[in-house]
Amino acid sequence: MIKKSLTDLEPARLEGRTVLVRADLNVPLDDDDVSDDQRIRASLPTLRILCDAGAKVVLLSHLGRPKGRAQPEFSLAPVARRLGDLLEYPVRFVGETHGEAVAHAVADTAMGQVVLLENTRFHPGETENDPELSASWADLGDIFVNDAFGTAHRAHASTAGLAQAMRSRGHEAVAGILMARELRYLEGVLRMPERPFLAIIGGAKISTKIGVISALLPLVDRLLIGGAMANTFFRALGLDTGESLVEEDAIDLARELVEEGGETIVLPVDCVVAPEVHEGAPARIVDRDAVKGVDKIVDIGPRTRSRFADMIGEARVIFWNGPMGVFEMAPFAQGTISVAEAVADACDSGAMGVLGGGDSAAAAQQAGVAHRLTHVSTGGGASLELIAGAELPGVASLSGVENE
Ligand code: ADP
Ligand code: MG
Repeated sequence: MIKKSLTDLEPARLEGRTVLVRADLNVPLDDDDVSDDQRIRASLPTLRILCDAGAKVVLLSHLGRPKGRAQPEFSLAPVARRLGDLLEYPVRFVGETHGEAVAHAVADTAMGQVVLLENTRFHPGETENDPELSASWADLGDIFVNDAFGTAHRAHASTAGLAQAMRSRGHEAVAGILMARELRYLEGVLRMPERPFLAIIGGAKISTKIGVISALLPLVDRLLIGGAMANTFFRALGLDTGESLVEEDAIDLARELVEEGGETIVLPVDCVVAPEVHEGAPARIVDRDAVKGVDKIVDIGPRTRSRFADMIGEARVIFWNGPMGVFEMAPFAQGTISVAEAVADACDSGAMGVLGGGDSAAAAQQAGVAHRLTHVSTGGGASLELIAGAELPGVASLSGVENE
């Protein structure tokens, strides 16, 4: 079902309303200050629309894993300060998640202003999806906007629970601007009729990505495999992988995928190997059938890079998740960088290129190409679950456009 989004609501319906917004303000903190404000910036479009329309915003988010109790190092207070600087609308912070202090602060806040509540995960009911906690927030507002795509794959009190509580009161629960954009591109990639459709899957483990691989295999023309995950496929082909990272109990699975996928699955033909996974280790380039002894595969090799780049260059729709090697170490980042550049070049020539996954997004940033991609998802787990065809509770709980 197509979900309603904030842009489906007339600004006149927002004026004078109290709007509950669940954002993903889960940013890294360093010594009580925000060290990377990307997620705060990503939430600004939704907040600006609401403030400009003359709504009062009650903003909720989690930060870190405080395990259901108040812990000062996970306070959203530094986020409120940074948000105020960026938004240029007054942002008030309440050091409570719910209850009387919150109700008073909300009543006290003027239209066009934002009040940020304390970290939702300070309350144990958040991750338990406690209906009473959801109800206490629902009582504060007239409309709910869920913009927290990164937590959409979890049913928590401030996400799915709050949407349900609002809708049971006859109110709207809609997707925010960021959430709607994520859904448009991630669902769009699967529905794009254009071909060739190519997927690139890398990263550490098959086991965390089996859902994505199985869902993509029947849809794509090519599935390029890199990263440590390729090692498990090498073993399925009977190759020696030396001392590389291999998921022994996923070898049979890899064999089944190769049988099912046939020519669709494209594995690396050469690799960068080193005796140790550290920057100074003496690295060599070897064909995939020459890996042996103490070798650890740390990146895809140059022949693989140019093969992958050629295939990426022919594609019209590209989904990429997972680095091609240990990209955190500069000598082993070349494979990931060359894939990132190939995807960016394809996007420059009109292909649709969508990237999901936290480490892959960091790699694209590091390669300096993130801004050239059609879409870089902000939700790691959520984007993979969506691509794998799962229904995300944070999305499923929103109002559908048909209900209008
Ligand atoms: P994402 O967050 O984009 O979904 P993953 O979390 O699945 O990606 O995988 C990223 C991790 O995989 C990185 O920390 C990277 O170092 C590791 N990795 C990739 N290739 C290898 C390899 N050949 N050997 C060991 N680790 C690898
Ligand atoms: Mg990761």
